[in-house]
Amino acid sequence: MLTVVEALQKIMDAAAPQGTRIISIEKALSHVLVDDVLADRPLPPFDRVAMDGFAVRSADFKDGAAQLAIVGQIQTGVTSETEIGPGEAVQIMTGAPCPASADAVVKIENATIDGAKVNLQEPKIKPGMNIASMGEDAPEGKVLIKKGYPLTTAGIAICASVGLEQVKVYRKPNIRVISTGSEIIAPSKQPLPNQIRDCNSYTLRTMSRAMDLDVTFMGIGEDDTGVLGNMIEEGLKGDILILSGGVSMGEFDHIPGLLAEKGVEKILHNILVKPGKPVWFGKSQNGAFVFGLPGNPVSVQTCFKVFVEPFIRKLSGHHSGENDFMRLPLSEQLISKTKRELFMPGRLSMHNNQTHIQPVIIKGSGDFANFEQSHGLIRVPLEESQIDVFSLVDFLPWGELW
Ligand code: AMP
Ligand code: MG
Repeated sequence: MLTVVEALQKIMDAAAPQGTRIISIEKALSHVLVDDVLADRPLPPFDRVAMDGFAVRSADFKDGAAQLAIVGQIQTGVTSETEIGPGEAVQIMTGAPCPASADAVVKIENATIDGAKVNLQEPKIKPGMNIASMGEDAPEGKVLIKKGYPLTTAGIAICASVGLEQVKVYRKPNIRVISTGSEIIAPSKQPLPNQIRDCNSYTLRTMSRAMDLDVTFMGIGEDDTGVLGNMIEEGLKGDILILSGGVSMGEFDHIPGLLAEKGVEKILHNILVKPGKPVWFGKSQNGAFVFGLPGNPVSVQTCFKVFVEPFIRKLSGHHSGENDFMRLPLSEQLISKTKRELFMPGRLSMHNNQTHIQPVIIKGSGDFANFEQSHGLIRVPLEESQIDVFSLVDFLPWGELW
């Protein structure tokens, strides 16, 4: 059986970006840039004053003080020709260009205006004080954001700063979701004692939307080859079809057989992981990808996080897509009773003023109340049966932490 590393290798090898499009930066959060974003002019574009105060010549100061003649005022957003000579100062605003003849700015708090003169106190006066010189943040042409990375809020602000209101990004895949199982009913229905309300499609829809993907829920399919076959055919019209349930070894677990029948090539089935061992992954003849996830709701959320999210990131143009684990100390000893790689829910907690990870014990797949308390997943490597308190572990946060 494939290890998690081997399975992820196969999953990531199958993922290649699916085209590009141009979108407004307002809509571009988390989309991956096709091109580097460059500084279109030096940043700052001129010697920019960083404080409201007086632009001065530092050489005019003796023992940190000077009395200077006020020769004018420079506001932001206006072109000023005002220059100063020895013994002179000009009142100036934060964000205005500093005149070439001044080499420092003394903040207004250190100034006392006395008619046409100003008394300045600045014990630390030196050239460059309170002036951000042209190009000191970035020279023209410098790469400010690298291609192949998702746009962040600060990245969008950079795009706006360099005049890009639209950017070229990789297209994100759309998702189709099917819940399977003859016992599964819509949450709006009154369940019989042997029926279970569908929650998996909500997990899959929510996690997909959190990645800013278009999701279509195709409905709940009973464990009937005819019904499921038709739903799969429809599902394969999207970029990625995600099924929950019906991939294990049971008599009515029809999904692997049906997918083969519909021409979906199997890339992997079964991974040495807990939860999620029966995970199925493949690609249809028309290029749609299919994930079959075991129906246990804890497995669905875990497998989406561990296997589906990195695939979607890579398909969306991310340079690696791989899961970014945090490394944090355990707040208590952790025991694993499985020989498979274990992904166990964990919670961030504070001990001695430091962030730790606390294992969240769930009694079983139905123990949502405890599972819901988790902030992410603790990775317990293959064959590891015990991790001691304060040892560092890999932690994969769900995303929205609190
Ligand atoms: P399966 O993978 O089909 O064998 O399902 C494993 C377990 O998950 C069974 O107890 C199912 O009833 C349950 N299950 C399957 N699909 C869903 C769903 N959509 N919502 C909630 N529970 C489910
Ligand atoms: Mg089932």
